Amino acid sequence: MALAHLNKYFWKYKWRFLLGIIFVVISNVFSLVPARMVREGFNTVSKAIEHFQTNALRADVGDLQKTLLTYGLIVIGTALAQGIFMFFMRQTIIVMSRFIEFDLKNEIFQQYQALTIAFYKRNSTGDLMNRISEDVSQVRMYIGPAIMYSINVLSQLILVIGSMLLVNVELTIYALLPMPILSVAIYYVSKEINVRSEQVQRQLSNLSTFVQENFSGIRILKSYARERSSAQDFDKEALEYRDRSLDLVKVNALFFPLMILLIGLSTLLTIYIGGRLAIEGTITTGNIAEFVIYVNMLTWPVASLGWVTSIVQRAAASQKRINEFLHLEPEIQNPTLEDTPILGAISFKDVSFTYPDSGIKALSNINFNIAPGQSLAIVGKTGSGKSTVAHLIGRLYDPTSGEIRIDERPLENINLKNLRSSIGYVPQEGYLFSDTIARNIAFGLDEYDHERIEQAAQDADVLHNILDFPKQFETRVGERGVILSGGQKQRVSIARAIIVNPTILIFDDCLSAVDTQTEETILQNLKRVMKDRTTVIISHRVSSVKHADQIIVLSNGSIIERGDHQSLLEQKGYYADLYEQQLLEEQESSSANRS
Ligand code: ADP
Ligand code: MG
Repeated sequence: MALAHLNKYFWKYKWRFLLGIIFVVISNVFSLVPARMVREGFNTVSKAIEHFQTNALRADVGDLQKTLLTYGLIVIGTALAQGIFMFFMRQTIIVMSRFIEFDLKNEIFQQYQALTIAFYKRNSTGDLMNRISEDVSQVRMYIGPAIMYSINVLSQLILVIGSMLLVNVELTIYALLPMPILSVAIYYVSKEINVRSEQVQRQLSNLSTFVQENFSGIRILKSYARERSSAQDFDKEALEYRDRSLDLVKVNALFFPLMILLIGLSTLLTIYIGGRLAIEGTITTGNIAEFVIYVNMLTWPVASLGWVTSIVQRAAASQKRINEFLHLEPEIQNPTLEDTPILGAISFKDVSFTYPDSGIKALSNINFNIAPGQSLAIVGKTGSGKSTVAHLIGRLYDPTSGEIRIDERPLENINLKNLRSSIGYVPQEGYLFSDTIARNIAFGLDEYDHERIEQAAQDADVLHNILDFPKQFETRVGERGVILSGGQKQRVSIARAIIVNPTILIFDDCLSAVDTQTEETILQNLKRVMKDRTTVIISHRVSSVKHADQIIVLSNGSIIERGDHQSLLEQKGYYADLYEQQLLEEQESSSANRS
């Protein structure tokens, strides 16, 4: 069963758990006392009445009062003790469930971090989020409340039914008769409640997704004047939500009346059968009173039996979903824990790669060698496989065939940590976290170093932009922050890559959104940074790559031309054409600017 996964956590917190169980039992033992005191009270009073009837003496009244008062005080005292232990029970078991929830979330998150990019392509963000939030909450309901109530039910059933049997077997059977019906009925009602509240939840999340998308796309929505139709769509979703909520209320309303009805039945049976037994003299009137209290004490446990069952079912379903992710083996594993320092030579030998999920063959038979400190440029149209080369160097995927070596060592033998921390990667779409600019740049650093942040910003030619913001490096970006232009974002990503002093720098088309002037400045600055570092520059623009030691031209995943800038121009092939064309474009745009 899926929930077995959690056993290791119960074991981890076994002492707390054991203590919790002991508290439950103690609290339940105390809960038996009031019923007995009531019985004693009844019996004392009826004896006293008999006594008064036979010899009309009044001397005992004081004694009687004292006895009853003592019973009353004992009831109050045990109720208090019961409450205190109930408090301890929650403090141990519910607290344990929060600890396990915390551990489980961490376990899932760590697994998420270990899984590969391919995994993230297969699963939606919403799914990932649900596993770690919704599903874990469901599981916690099992670890905490469900377990606590189960122990409580079990110990209460044993203690209460035990006490009842000691008094009278026949009466016990009659009093307990409606209980199984109650339990089963509540099971079905709470199951129905769960189903319906899930529908309510789902509709609620539809509703919020709808609203969120409308807010995100508000500019487009307004510029197309779609406010009215959007409001109508919202109305439809909201109506659906209302109907689902009303459905839930209808079954919810059934819950308590059903319980009260069946308890009433039990009480009725107790009094009728008990009365007859008391007349026969088998039991005392005190016993009847005692039984009525027992029956009421059993209500909650029996009702929660159905409730607990449905919680456990839901938790098991959730845990099953969580396990699907937890038991995945990341396709890419760290082969070794020993340090494998990286000098920066990269070689591709007959490398081909097909994306596992889409089946698209992105690279075929790629060969190249880069010596440490040298630069390689890759040009080609969109979809020609340029970014794929970058992914393979960072081992985000393993090649389908062929071999990649770094410093003569096969890539899959290199410590993944060493590999990735030696690479400064600037992805095509620069993603920034919702945080300050300074912290976005310092992302790969272990400690915050303002001087290095400033230097990196300078090298990426974004320093002057940052200093123009009122809060400078403390400016927040992302949602609710400053919106950076595409070019500014790219340059902040470049700063983030170069600040870590990587041995290998990979720029994946990261100058596409800046103008040629800025591009020139950045490339000039980077010359100093790129000295002694292996650099891979990916671009569709010749101006970015012409200084590279070697240039390869990709088309449909194959290298069609290679050489340096000069020799490629002489080849008069694709590269030379591209150069000509871009030169023309540039001249046109600069003459357009002048006029
Ligand atoms: P480029 O960077 O030159 O534009 P890519 O390397 O991104 O090209 O893509 C090469 C081919 O692989 C394209 O046909 C693209 O559709 C496909 N591709 C890229 N990334 C993925 C991915 N994560 N999953 C599946 N197919 C992909
Ligand atoms: Mg690309």
